[in-house]
Amino acid sequence: MNKTCTVVGAGLAGCEAAWQLAERGISVTLYEMKPESYSPAHKMSGFAELVCSNSLKAEHLTNASGLLKAEMRLLDSLILKAAYHARVPAGGALAVDRDNFSIYITSAMENHENITVIRKRIDEIPDGPVVIATGPLTHSVLAEAITRLPGFSALHFFDAAAPIVTLDSLNMDKVFRASRYEKGADYLNCPMTEDEYNAFYDALMSAELAEVHEFDKKQVFEGCLAVEILASRGRQTLAFGPLKPVGLVDPRTGKAPYANVQLRQDNEQGTLFNLVGFQTRLKWGEQKRVFSMIPGLENAEFVRYGVMHRNTYLNSPDVLSKNFSVKGNPDMRFAGQITGVEGYMESTASGLIAGISLAKRLLGEEEPEFTGDTVLGALARHVVSPTPDFQPMNANFGILDKLTERIRGKRNRYEKLAELSLARVNEIKATYHL
Ligand SMILES: Cc1cc2nc3c(=O)[nH]c(=O)nc-3n(C[C@H](O)[C@H](O)[C@H](O)COP(=O)(O)OP(=O)(O)OC[C@H]3O[C@@H](n4cnc5c(N)ncnc54)[C@H](O)[C@@H]3O)c2cc1C
Repeated sequence: MNKTCTVVGAGLAGCEAAWQLAERGISVTLYEMKPESYSPAHKMSGFAELVCSNSLKAEHLTNASGLLKAEMRLLDSLILKAAYHARVPAGGALAVDRDNFSIYITSAMENHENITVIRKRIDEIPDGPVVIATGPLTHSVLAEAITRLPGFSALHFFDAAAPIVTLDSLNMDKVFRASRYEKGADYLNCPMTEDEYNAFYDALMSAELAEVHEFDKKQVFEGCLAVEILASRGRQTLAFGPLKPVGLVDPRTGKAPYANVQLRQDNEQGTLFNLVGFQTRLKWGEQKRVFSMIPGLENAEFVRYGVMHRNTYLNSPDVLSKNFSVKGNPDMRFAGQITGVEGYMESTASGLIAGISLAKRLLGEEEPEFTGDTVLGALARHVVSPTPDFQPMNANFGILDKLTERIRGKRNRYEKLAELSLARVNEIKATYHL
């Protein structure tokens, strides 16, 4: 008999889950509310939209995000394939042209023989096998339906997105191209003197914030902290944080600047750049006024301003079980940021696990066990680990199983963890015929 499954939400997690199900012969109906409805952060009608940074973070294996990518590559991740197809230069990071990235994934969904795409908003939990991957900006009607599931409750809080400027509008007499420690020249750098930094800091501290209802400071998670909140921790916090000048030499002075704002390429053509670390909830007019004080941005054209967004996630340890299944209802899975993983690749990873494991279940086969010595398994474990204050988690080596042998040096330890993890993923593949 033909096995069927519904996937709600064609974001990163939903598309990955749909792909993994469909590739295993499951007939998937994929629902996406765009273009009928848009969340406050989504703008494109295509799938797998990157709402903030265009970076999927590090690629090297001694970084947990890089290791996660390598694990997912072994498991035929669609989102990773799209990322390599749409990549733009970004030093050691995997950054993409967001349009090309989305076009690739949308086309893979629309043209897969086992996937039917329906552009429709879902307001109730569908019957039958389902993966709910509606993201941190899940439409409020569905969010309410989720909270009515037995034992469920949802938390709401806000994130911040960084502004984007055009290359043409920058003053290249001041801005210089370089990556830290001369590792390429992928970033644009805006060097600041001490006086310029202080003037910028004072303006930032007195700038007006946009109105955000229900905003609860305590619930803004550290990974996407607004620049003005970081700055409010002390005059030097930015200079030691996102504006640190380490590994950079201003060619005009031959010295390291006092502080430095980095701009990262945002599209394939290299015509748009985002302000690294400048997620913000300043009013738009204030962003133009204050950020134009950054040397080189005097006349910058802002094609997108930073904005604050709602972020919804479940109290997953209470309601989820193995492989992102709902406790007591293994035919229902959640995937993506809504489960309490944090980040583009992490959201995708949960979609990959949910998709593969639900497919296995529907086919009457044993579900894989992603163990805690892999980043995939460690993330899945995080969301079901009981904790008094459950918080979203991104990929990091701290959540993996500890090494049993003593290895000196962080890099050597990370290399060992990567070696073990990739060997384990290969073993899981062989054991469960993935
Ligand atoms: C403002 C903001 C900025 C972020 N910036 C970053 C960043 O820079 N780097 C990073 O790594 N992570 C970032 N994140 C966190 C996270 O990685 C992203 O939100 C990521 O896109 C989550 O993937 P997802 O698949 O869970 O959800 P999404 O990619 O948001 O996909 C969910 C999809 O479901 C659809 N949908 C919602 N409700 C319904 C419904 N009722 N019916 C049908 N369809 C529906 C949406 O339209 C959307 O297409 C950010 C999050 C937010 C909110």
